Amino acid sequence: MSQFWSPAVRALTPYVPGEQPREKLIKLNTNENPYPPAPGVAEVLREYAIDRLRLYPDPGAHALREAIARHHDVAVEQVFVGNGSDEVLALAFKAFFERDEALAVPTISYSFYPVYCDFYGITMNRLPLTEALEVDLDAFPTDSGGVVFANPNAPTGHAHSREAIAGLLERYTERVVLVDEAYVDFGGESVVPLLARFPNLLVTGTFSKSRSLAGLRIGYAIGSPELIDGLNRVKDSFNSYPLDSIAIAAGVAAMQDDEHFRACCNAVIATRERTRAALEQADIQVLPSCTNFLFVRPRSIDAEALFTGLRERGILVRFFDKPSLNQFLRISIGTDDEMDQLIDAIYAMTGVNA
Ligand code: PMP
Repeated sequence: MSQFWSPAVRALTPYVPGEQPREKLIKLNTNENPYPPAPGVAEVLREYAIDRLRLYPDPGAHALREAIARHHDVAVEQVFVGNGSDEVLALAFKAFFERDEALAVPTISYSFYPVYCDFYGITMNRLPLTEALEVDLDAFPTDSGGVVFANPNAPTGHAHSREAIAGLLERYTERVVLVDEAYVDFGGESVVPLLARFPNLLVTGTFSKSRSLAGLRIGYAIGSPELIDGLNRVKDSFNSYPLDSIAIAAGVAAMQDDEHFRACCNAVIATRERTRAALEQADIQVLPSCTNFLFVRPRSIDAEALFTGLRERGILVRFFDKPSLNQFLRISIGTDDEMDQLIDAIYAMTGVNA
């Protein structure tokens, strides 16, 4: 704590991202993609390393926005890009939510949302999940100052259908509804096609998961041109060059390779379902998942003990040290070989004979 900090900074509880270990571990704790990005990305990196870095990037990141617009079948004016979807979310919270109108957010969802609320002084109305740990779409009050949730949700993995979210949007028209689709490519249904009907819908996405580019920090939002204009107003006040030229070019290459994208997503999904069946054998409850992770509750061993035991065996998964989540672990889907090692380690600890 410093006397030089503003009261807002003193009150802040910063987000603590999942550990990025320095030693070599099987890393299943931050939902990265186990496969490399599209081959075209490596070509772009080589080309940029030679003669393009002396130039400023395109502040409008047009090439990347066009590639995203084409993929989602929307106009380029409907696409905004930023430094990871974390930054895009921060700008959206700043642009669309008011301090004194409570923003509706599920109690269990991406833990960055409360941090942004804290930072911008936005009050929150935190709504419990259903008993099945699904986001309760009927619980969002229609007089909220906005609605934010992840679909599929994190860390729980459940996804609502587009139709169910359309039902929420029909009731809720006065303020922005932000749907965070970081994990949608692993089995969720995007709500982007609803944009034509709902000008208050903002959808965010990322290149960190299904496009294997977490290290480059590329995120985006898709919405009506008026919402995108709102984001641009905020962005230009902070940073008029949100993405560097390597991220722009690599993002285009990643977005254009549909075959690689689909093959990686399908591989992750197949490994996820195989892992689910194997974990269930070890008396572990595995929640249904439309993502690249599994949210699991061990029954015969304490979740923290399982986390610690796995770490001792060189496998890092995510344990959330708070009462609402400390019976669960979140396990990212790695390669088949990594998941085999995870399963073997869990069987050894729970006494299951494979
Ligand atoms: N939304 C959700 C639900 C996430 O889990 C994450 C990743 N931690 C993000 C957004 C942010 O992703 P990125 O900033 O890498 O685009």
